Amino acid sequence: MKFVFDPVQSAHNPGNFLSSGVRKPNPETPARADMLLEAGRASGFEIEAPDDYGLAPAAAIHSPEYLRFLQSIHARWREIPGASDEVIPNVHPNGRPHGTSAGYPASAVGQAGYHMADTACPISESTWTSVKASMNTAVHATRQVRAGARAAYALCRPPGHHAFADMAGGFCYLNNSAIAAQDLRRDHDRVVVLDVDLHHGNGTQGIFYRRDDVLTISIHADPQNFYPFFWGHGNERGAGAGVGYNLNFPLALGSGNKPFLAALDSACEAIAAFAPGAMVVALGLDAHESDPFAGLAVTTAGFGEIGHEIGGLALPSVIVQEGGYANPALGANLVSFLEGFGRSSP
Ligand SMILES: [Zn+2]
Repeated sequence: MKFVFDPVQSAHNPGNFLSSGVRKPNPETPARADMLLEAGRASGFEIEAPDDYGLAPAAAIHSPEYLRFLQSIHARWREIPGASDEVIPNVHPNGRPHGTSAGYPASAVGQAGYHMADTACPISESTWTSVKASMNTAVHATRQVRAGARAAYALCRPPGHHAFADMAGGFCYLNNSAIAAQDLRRDHDRVVVLDVDLHHGNGTQGIFYRRDDVLTISIHADPQNFYPFFWGHGNERGAGAGVGYNLNFPLALGSGNKPFLAALDSACEAIAAFAPGAMVVALGLDAHESDPFAGLAVTTAGFGEIGHEIGGLALPSVIVQEGGYANPALGANLVSFLEGFGRSSP
């Protein structure tokens, strides 16, 4: 399996993370990618750097004003006298008219509020460069699959599944999994995005919520008591033409392999019924029992079983890295998933 990684992604090194009102070091660090890369290398995966695919893949998912914002906001923010090094919003306009330009502010502070769902997605001078490299990594893996590879893994950092069409959030800026799915749609009438990250894939859900050509499924810690709080409940089934094409499997906090795999069984049944031509796996590894977010309790062997079951769907698959934070098992969890997936390859 191709293992795609771009070292340029490491330039993004966010400093701040506000947790229950306390400023802490941001856990979405370059060291995460180093751990995953080393584990992949040690297990014999062939590491490949991505080509540059320009902005077209991002523009197929994200709004023009949001892409302009991501590219320009840091320089404009720094023109504000006394502004912080990192762009962090201090206004949060709930209920703004999504997806339209009505009421779009001119000010850098206003736009930061408009385009950033929370404080966990600070933008520094090097953020855009790394975000673009992360997207290229996902697109490169996708193009390998479109060219006939059974599967490819994209070590994307920063991650993407909390990013909406015009809004960053939760360490995410461009939605790499959604971009990969849209790119796969050029060859396949139906594509599924299966998200196994600890956190609900709210951005991906939002992007495809009204569509019936991309089935979105997420297995995650119950948002009643866990980020992203406002999305990820079982009754969110899609809207308009998309009704029935979004499935959420919220799990009780602390759930281990058994409930996770039971939800995955149901997810796989729904995927088989949808009969997609290709799949994106939004692979978070933060459901692990040792992850610092401590939401679920999947084991390293459990990730192997998850990979094996998903691989058993026998679909052309782009595996996109989402969350998973520094802990001694992080690299082993990735290898366990990829090897489990590989064991079921036809
Ligand atoms: Zn996560």
